[in-house]
Amino acid sequence: MKQYSEKKMNKTVYWAEKPGDQDTKVIRVVKEQESDSEMLSVCLREAARCLKQGGLVAFPTETVYGLGADALNETAAKRIYEAKGRPSDNPLIVHISAIEDMDKLAYVNDMAKALAQAFWPGPLTIILPKKECVPDGTTGGLGTVAIRMPSHPAALELIRQSGVYVAAPSANTSGRPSPTKASHVVEDMRGKIEYIVDGGAVGIGIESTIVDVSGEKPMILRPGFISKHMLEQIIGDVEIDPALSKPVDGMRPKAPGMKYTHYAPKGEMTLVEGDEGVRGQVIQQIKELAAEKQQEGFRVGIMAPKETISFYYGCADAVICVGDRNGQQTVAAGLYAALREFDNAEVDYIYAESFRGEELSDAIMNRLLKAAGHRVICVERGE
Ligand code: AMP
Ligand code: MG
Repeated sequence: MKQYSEKKMNKTVYWAEKPGDQDTKVIRVVKEQESDSEMLSVCLREAARCLKQGGLVAFPTETVYGLGADALNETAAKRIYEAKGRPSDNPLIVHISAIEDMDKLAYVNDMAKALAQAFWPGPLTIILPKKECVPDGTTGGLGTVAIRMPSHPAALELIRQSGVYVAAPSANTSGRPSPTKASHVVEDMRGKIEYIVDGGAVGIGIESTIVDVSGEKPMILRPGFISKHMLEQIIGDVEIDPALSKPVDGMRPKAPGMKYTHYAPKGEMTLVEGDEGVRGQVIQQIKELAAEKQQEGFRVGIMAPKETISFYYGCADAVICVGDRNGQQTVAAGLYAALREFDNAEVDYIYAESFRGEELSDAIMNRLLKAAGHRVICVERGE
């Protein structure tokens, strides 16, 4: 696809090449614009107008890049499903720029109010019974709606300025890892959407925690940066959807999106797990598995944290470091970019160390287990 650059306007245009394709404009928002509300507002004007008119705009949030459309305009929301190739029964999260807007979309209860006060703007999505104005096309026909107020300045300003509530799933093609940089969105969405707001690499790197407070007991439907413990400090006991831990026959996750093979790289991924005491054996096992597949003529990838990555150099076609085991936020931030790198390296098999332990590891392991289709090899002491 041809690329045309308008440097002065801080904008790149990917012109449509095939009939039916869309020109996609990338608007860069630099750090100094993020902290100057007037500059930010000018920079996002075109994109906000596009959202208001029913167009598609991808934008950075603190979790991952979102693909936005007017949530109350069914035709606009439908275009999201087309651009992503997303199954239509998988509902969208509606993004707002002020806590009060929650009332316009849903029947709000005390738990939701307390959670919004504690964690918004931020990486928490709250599920509530929906009001009439939210179309079925946005909620996948459900009687509930998922709502979030993001904290990224560009996201907040874009939503505010557009004057609409913004339905925004992650801005990836369905089934691919979520985008954590604008270049990932360009890979998946150019020619399909009008604008991409480029705010650089996102901070958290995995999607928001989803908590359902529409029923009797609050329940986590997707783990994320806001942990069970953090939620319980505000609203008391919180359950975790039991279908999340292992695929069990007949048990479906309550968030429709969690049943799909999300976050999957193209190569077949296996996690090799073992505690601190068997780290050496884990490394040995991964090296042996990689060598075996290479001998059979396959391309192999290895993923490990900074602490052990050097043990694997030369042992695979792509050896990719994913953050720092002792700073799990860096693992979350690097995970999806690493999975995309394996796709670019066209590996057939991926072997990865696993990350159980600290609080954020629930969220990281949820994504990793899905990426690996729950293929796990456990290394025990003395093996
Ligand atoms: P994404 O936007 O890609 O982060 O995906 C949004 C996630 O939220 C998907 O897993 C959806 O199934 C889930 N979701 C959205 N709305 C609802 C809802 N009303 N009830 C349960 N899950 C929801
Ligand atoms: Mg997604």
